[in-house]
Amino acid sequence: MAEQLVYIDGEFLPKNEAKVSVFDHGFLYGDGVFEGIRAYHGKVFRLGPHIERLYESAKAIGLVIPVSPQEMGDIVIESCRRNGIANGYIRLVVSRGVGDLGLNPYLCPKASIICIAATIQLYPVELYEKGLDIVTVATPRNHPEALNPRIKSLNYLNNIMAKMEAIRAGVQEAVMLNLQGFVAECTGDNIFIWRRGKLITPPSTEGALEGITRNAVIDLARAKGLVVAEERMSRFDIYTADEMFLTGTGAELIPVVKVDGRAIGEGGVGPVFKGLLEDFKALTKVDGAPIPGLS
Ligand code: PMP
Repeated sequence: MAEQLVYIDGEFLPKNEAKVSVFDHGFLYGDGVFEGIRAYHGKVFRLGPHIERLYESAKAIGLVIPVSPQEMGDIVIESCRRNGIANGYIRLVVSRGVGDLGLNPYLCPKASIICIAATIQLYPVELYEKGLDIVTVATPRNHPEALNPRIKSLNYLNNIMAKMEAIRAGVQEAVMLNLQGFVAECTGDNIFIWRRGKLITPPSTEGALEGITRNAVIDLARAKGLVVAEERMSRFDIYTADEMFLTGTGAELIPVVKVDGRAIGEGGVGPVFKGLLEDFKALTKVDGAPIPGLS
């Protein structure tokens, strides 16, 4: 198999030569933004919304991206094409770039763009059949006025602290609450519940990233006539839900069958989840920006 090629600032370099400076503020301070994107069946899923979110995240932290959104989309597609990735995971990173050892981002003359097209397996296959057992953790989601969770920044320490709590508790994922005690999201996924005939997910203003997968699921649910609401959610709503599942680019849709030791609904994988998963799989076959030679 040909060696993996990684895009860095205008060049495609072999994996072993793809290196960034130790003075890059993405490394020194987590100063930058990123996207995780999926390719399915030779097409880049929801490329437009990912690029839009990347530029919004960058704008929110005052980071100037040195290429246009159109060029950025082309970088993603070309990375897949060169690596023969028809089904895979693309990591697109924009860091503040090289500066000195101080915090000052204005001393970093040019943002750096990195694109890695590879593959991913987030959770073991059997968990998609059996469902996850997860817990609420003590680490609250970042306060939106401190570091807004709507910014997909390179600084994931908040989520990593929460993930560590979950793993130490013997489970794979964590429900993170906001500082008011309402449900925000999991460490790398959005949360949905099916309760009293309604599909509910917290609004992004509660401390959640506006997930691309989340928005696709909302569209799919509405298209099949389900009632969908972006509503404030408490743990009571979760404990008394009929079904629960998580969404994310890496995880796709994964069911949750237990939270904080309480079975969700009957404790099995429910019909609403199964239906939406089928619809999502069908969508990935038709949606997306084609990769030349692979779609
Ligand atoms: N929340 C967080 C904190 C995330 O990092 C992610 C992405 N992994 C998501 C939600 C899901 O968003 P998306 O569907 O766009 O991947």
